[in-house]
Amino acid sequence: MAYESINPNDGKTVKTFPELTDEQLEKKISTAAHTYKAWKKTSYAERAVIVAKAAELMHANVDKFAKHATIEMGKLINESRGEVKYSADILAYYAKNGERFLAPEKLHPALGEAHMESSPMGVIFCVEPWNFPYYQLARIAGPHLMAGNVVVVKHAGCVPQCAIEFEKLWIEAGAPEGLYTNLLISHAQSDKVIDDVRIAGVALTGSVAAGRSIAARAGQNLKPTSMELGGSDAFIVLEDADIEKTIPWAVWGRMYNAGQTCCASKRFIVVEELADKFLEKFKTALQALTPGDPMDEKTTHGPLSTESALTDLLKQVDVAVSHGAKVLIGGKRINRPGSFMQATILTNVTSDNPAFRDEFFGPVAMFFRVKDEEAAIALANDSDFGLGGSVFTKDAARGQRVASRVDTGMMFINNIDWSDAELPFGGIKYSGYGRELGDMGIQEFVNKKLVRTHDIAAPLV
Ligand code: NAP
Repeated sequence: MAYESINPNDGKTVKTFPELTDEQLEKKISTAAHTYKAWKKTSYAERAVIVAKAAELMHANVDKFAKHATIEMGKLINESRGEVKYSADILAYYAKNGERFLAPEKLHPALGEAHMESSPMGVIFCVEPWNFPYYQLARIAGPHLMAGNVVVVKHAGCVPQCAIEFEKLWIEAGAPEGLYTNLLISHAQSDKVIDDVRIAGVALTGSVAAGRSIAARAGQNLKPTSMELGGSDAFIVLEDADIEKTIPWAVWGRMYNAGQTCCASKRFIVVEELADKFLEKFKTALQALTPGDPMDEKTTHGPLSTESALTDLLKQVDVAVSHGAKVLIGGKRINRPGSFMQATILTNVTSDNPAFRDEFFGPVAMFFRVKDEEAAIALANDSDFGLGGSVFTKDAARGQRVASRVDTGMMFINNIDWSDAELPFGGIKYSGYGRELGDMGIQEFVNKKLVRTHDIAAPLV
């Protein structure tokens, strides 16, 4: 496995980085473990100074960070800038709120006094994906560092420059060496890190396959994990939806980040009455997107992250078609340099088609026509995944009732405003377990300790 920065806009290699040797890895883990001993004793205010400084530096250097993301994984430059600003906001949010979330909590036993304390656990190993090369890192660094843990992070092989820039950020923010450590390591080395007694917990954001492997390994070591995995979110359109407002959300929901978002809208489930109208307008809007260099602000359709991401997606479409799916638009690579995939709509995806249960990680929408609201809910729930989903209707209370019946970790009514620093993010079923962000995100790797005071004589034996 190599750490290679390859620009998916033209396929040219920008830079490659060697993996750490086992000796180098050992030194980094040992430094992190050593740093933890001092960091866990710091006050929240001391931690907040460094985390807030990192936020400030990100805000001050948006373009520098953004360019690396766009060059390494093809994100449209304005989306990259938005991601950098949002990542900085997440860090600032935890710098401000970390102490409040972890304050001792008074309990009310019948006898005596009791409270819960939150204390850090140690060195947390985080494995992160390329699709949000900074946001994913901010989601773990902000909360876990404020909680008094330290982190060692394996980022994805295709975004080494983003990984290195984010590590530098912490040094520039005044962090002690070993507080935030980037590890350019192989999967085999990652297994060794999980086994290492100095590692207290493991957080993964990635595919189901990675989740199975990493959670199993951590389980063997009885280490706590959080798993943020894939999704195949339903985009439910009820017959009373405002179609003019719904279509832009449908386009954004499927095409943002070139469709490479865990909680992107992947299954469009539209009630019969509105189905033809929706499909026609959705098709037209997708066809109006402009492929081009993601560094160009006018481009609205960027490349996929890597050539293999494109070839895998094309194969998935072929398999879907060979099992009876119809390609309404797209289905092919775009005839230009780089790893570009046409915006695609698949119809006639029946439940015996492997595509029905797959995650399409790119600009491929599956379209389903259903009789009514009941059928929409049943179809939305007929999935191995349970990350997010959305409901479009003019009746917000009805949207909320439908949302309550869809088995996912997150639901959005008349929007797909996926993520905010203060709102928990995560899923159920094959989409994983645990939550990042909000109050819940900072609780994942803390020891919740009960302390009971009750000055009475021991019972007689
Ligand atoms: P991936 O192949 O699982 O890679 C994600 C990370 O896991 C990378 O750093 C990868 O390293 C590492 N990895 C994979 N297998 C590993 C193993 N056996 N041992 C150690 N490390 C391993 O995922 P991807 O295809 O790049 O990312 C897209 C997936 O992530 C999609 O399924 C998406 O839905 C999901 N995702 C979920 C969320 C969420 O919050 N729920 C957010 C974003 C993405 P290498 O690059 O070195 O292989």
